[in-house]
Amino acid sequence: MLWPFELRRSYHRRNDIHARFGGQQQGGISTPANAPGIFIFTGHGAGHVGYQDVFEADGSFRYTGQGQLGDMRMISGNRAIRDHVQNGKDLLLFQQTKKGGPVRFEGLYVCGGWKMEQQPDMNGQPRQAIVFTLVPQSGLSIEAEGLATEAPVDLSLEELRKRALKAALAPTTASPRVALANVRARSKAVRDYVLARAKGSCENCGSSAPFLTSTGQPYLESHHIHKLSDGGPDHPASVAALCPNCHRQAHFGRSQISFENELIKKIIKIEIF
Ligand SMILES: [Zn+2]
Ligand SMILES: [Zn+2]
Repeated sequence: MLWPFELRRSYHRRNDIHARFGGQQQGGISTPANAPGIFIFTGHGAGHVGYQDVFEADGSFRYTGQGQLGDMRMISGNRAIRDHVQNGKDLLLFQQTKKGGPVRFEGLYVCGGWKMEQQPDMNGQPRQAIVFTLVPQSGLSIEAEGLATEAPVDLSLEELRKRALKAALAPTTASPRVALANVRARSKAVRDYVLARAKGSCENCGSSAPFLTSTGQPYLESHHIHKLSDGGPDHPASVAALCPNCHRQAHFGRSQISFENELIKKIIKIEIF
């Protein structure tokens, strides 16, 4: 399955998002317990009095976290954003352009870093606010970057694995300028490792990659098991290298849940060396 939201299309927050996936119906950060995503709302009515959310020229989005009075803390919704990669959750950004109006889907994002910044709280008092740099996932997607990029040949599988595990960790405070590059590098580290781990065969059905790419690499696609989207960094135990047939089946097949459960078992076996 994929997220049923189209880019730049407007949705009714309660009926189209929460009725279907759950999560808090108020506030800027909604964390449904049983859906593989976190919904972020910005603009009117998202509880953002005095907040300074803004799209930067490089496409990244500065998002001020949760907490209306006093210094913000890295708890609940804020922590969910920071740890979304580790927890296998997509970040979906919605913008409300008119008070009380529908919310527009702005796309999938990856938390590229965060920092503390002085901003006024709801009463106009200065306080420390958590400001996230969210990086659009579209620029990182497997389609955009080429499906089977070459893994660095000079690194052992164990070294590639170490890099991939590090890439899944919550980002430490990073300057917004390096956030995009960081997220790209983290995504690539995971993909490099998973493709090297597969050694040219689909990790679901075991058949050889259907062809070699122009760079001579076996063609396999990386599939994120828990998330509904395939871009961005992830824990290596949550990503599988699949042949195109198995990959289509994972997203569009009749028994997706049992397919995913079998795949999880296979990957866990591979990951425990
Ligand atoms: Zn396969
Ligand atoms: Zn996939």
